[in-house]
Amino acid sequence: SHAIRVGIAGYGNLGRGAVAALARCPDMRLAGVFTRRAPASLRLPDPATPVLPLNDAAAHRHDIDVMILCGGSKDDLPVQGPELAQWFTTVDSYDTHARIPRYFEAVDAAARAHGNLSIIAVGWDPGLFSISRLVGEAILPDGATYTFWGKGLSQGHSDAIRRVAGVRAGVQYTIPVPEAIERVRAGERPALSTREKHRRECYVVLEPGADPRQVEQAIVTMPDYFADYDTQVHIIDEATLAREHAGMPHGGFVIRSGRTGASENQAMEFSLKLGSNPAFTSSVLVAYARAAWRMKSAGETGARTVFDVAPGLLSPQSPEMLRKALL
Ligand code: NAP
Repeated sequence: SHAIRVGIAGYGNLGRGAVAALARCPDMRLAGVFTRRAPASLRLPDPATPVLPLNDAAAHRHDIDVMILCGGSKDDLPVQGPELAQWFTTVDSYDTHARIPRYFEAVDAAARAHGNLSIIAVGWDPGLFSISRLVGEAILPDGATYTFWGKGLSQGHSDAIRRVAGVRAGVQYTIPVPEAIERVRAGERPALSTREKHRRECYVVLEPGADPRQVEQAIVTMPDYFADYDTQVHIIDEATLAREHAGMPHGGFVIRSGRTGASENQAMEFSLKLGSNPAFTSSVLVAYARAAWRMKSAGETGARTVFDVAPGLLSPQSPEMLRKALL
């Protein structure tokens, strides 16, 4: 059997991460990168990698076993997901939680109509965290589930502070409140307010002449994004921003705290500490691309989520090897 031929649709942070992740998977091969930009404008680590116009993707459907969709959730995937599911077995990291049911329907219809398989909303949240929530609730029905995010860079909140008048550049970190995590771990099952679970820290570079007090007030009182949190604003210079805040760390905890029998406290916890959110997310996508190809090869069609994928399908090892080595 040949190496799984993988295509990448969209070359941003996830696209670059997927190229790096594939290089560590001998059973898979990068067959091409597809982009809406001029192909010659992209610089790939291996200059021999074919870079092709996304518009021509359908013509390459017989050369690609799985397409990893690396477009943005807001504007790209709602179009690219159903479109590419007509031609390819796909995996994507669609992460607009409230719209997942609608997105699932659209991709499912396209994939089914053309006999393809698509795994949507893969990554860590949604993704690995979703699996942890499901397992926790199935095993401890008498309990409560808590998800804490961070410490991590939030793209949406960073964009929001950059729109404030007087702000030239900036980043925002979401930080879980340690006291809240300790109460949950101790089995207290507390009812936690938004403010009690997370706080927010902003690092901001000002436009020349901007009033730091005014900028800080505009940020901490911003509805939806900051008003319901304890928010700290640090004014820094451009060099410090470039030196100390260029990475994209993230992570978090899913904790299920419950009771069995008459009174035993039980706690389940899954945590991630990610040096780079997109590099990790694309590594998850690559493992699920392997599973997608196996499910498609077994004759499955339509849309799936991480809830529908058996864990063994993620591994390059055979079921026999897995039983011997990891069970
Ligand atoms: P991104 O870097 O903004 O890339 C998105 C798309 O923008 C790319 O596919 C690319 O398409 C285009 N693009 C990238 N760089 C560009 C540039 N310099 N100029 C013009 N266009 C450019 O987004 P990302 O960080 O890869 O994240 C993609 C999505 O992943 C996010 O929207 C998020 O929803 C999702 N995500 C999910 C999870 C999870 O746990 N499920 C975690 C992290 C992220 P073309 O090549 O076609 O131009």
